[in-house]
Amino acid sequence: MIGSFTFENLPCRVVFGSGTLGAAKAEIERLGGKRVLVLATPQQEAHGKALGAALGPLYAGLFAGATMHTPVEVTERAIAAMKACEADCVVALGGGATTGLGKALAFRTGVNQLCIPTTYAGSEMTPILGQTENGLKTTVRDVAVLPETVIYDVDLTMTLPVGLTATSGINAIAHAVEALYARDTNPVTSLMAEEGIRALARALPAIAAKPDDRASRSEALYGAWLCGVCLGTVGMALHHKLCHTLGGTFDLPHAETHTIVLPHALAYNAPAVPEAMARIARAIGATDASRGLFDLAKRLGAKVALRDIGMPESGIDRAADLAVTNAYWNPRPLERAAIRDLIARAWAGEPPV
Ligand code: NAD
Repeated sequence: MIGSFTFENLPCRVVFGSGTLGAAKAEIERLGGKRVLVLATPQQEAHGKALGAALGPLYAGLFAGATMHTPVEVTERAIAAMKACEADCVVALGGGATTGLGKALAFRTGVNQLCIPTTYAGSEMTPILGQTENGLKTTVRDVAVLPETVIYDVDLTMTLPVGLTATSGINAIAHAVEALYARDTNPVTSLMAEEGIRALARALPAIAAKPDDRASRSEALYGAWLCGVCLGTVGMALHHKLCHTLGGTFDLPHAETHTIVLPHALAYNAPAVPEAMARIARAIGATDASRGLFDLAKRLGAKVALRDIGMPESGIDRAADLAVTNAYWNPRPLERAAIRDLIARAWAGEPPV
């Protein structure tokens, strides 16, 4: 039986395919943009410049200073760059860090955004902006930060290193996993979640074996889009809260942290969400969802221990305290001892139980 639910479609235009970067100029014109500031990280500056050249007279400048966690001081420098070149539109070309900067600019100035993601982080599909000021991370939820248009071009993901492909892909899977047991879960988002997990679980091992396999790269990007929609449409729970806390407290890398924590957070919630467990297991082709995700990460060569990405052992208790400090919704009540256990296993790289 289908129960009662609420579903809200977010207003975002999506252009998906290969060679779709070529549509950027037309998409900017569609938004009424006349002068564009291109955003990138220092590592992707050359890509930003190449895009600028392709935009011809629309190109007003490049800001290649995007960085993790969207620090407010970087946003302020980007606003100054926007003013200096009189930009009326921004194009964010890159991963979640660059997308975050575009969203921060939209939040502060109301500027229109075209987003061109090159990882599987999914931020481009959410009305959520996380930013940091004086070391403190805060989150804003406002539809004003959602990009007006998103271009997914599989060609741009061909250069995504195999390691980041694996962790970014599992980061995307995490959005869909928590969508399947979200408080505001609904049948439409769940369809996208299961399909997103299925697409990524099938594509990631194929990409690890053959990084230039365009069909698998395309399937992974499609999966990442679906998972991003899940993240933007329903609320998340323990897994995202834990990763947010661990990342912020110990300055751990985003996608790697998600990859390590996901099987353990899912195992914790398993008794409360049997239907979601069955759907996830079916999507990844495993008998047990959390063990299947742990094995997938290992098979992809990703790190599976928090200690291997810089978390000190002394941080386990602190993380457990923080995880139960601010009450938030989770399908299984938050029990400190069991959460401490979960973090300790993730720290040591043990399989989930
Ligand atoms: P990232 O954007 O920091 O990218 C990681 C590195 O990979 C960067 O150096 C980048 O230049 C490089 N890179 C990106 N694409 C590449 C490609 N195709 N080829 C080669 N190199 C490439 O990392 P991420 O995991 O994409 O994003 C993480 C950030 O996104 C975090 O700050 C996180 O908080 C944020 N995020 C926000 C939301 C949201 O809804 N607000 C959702 C997910 C992630």
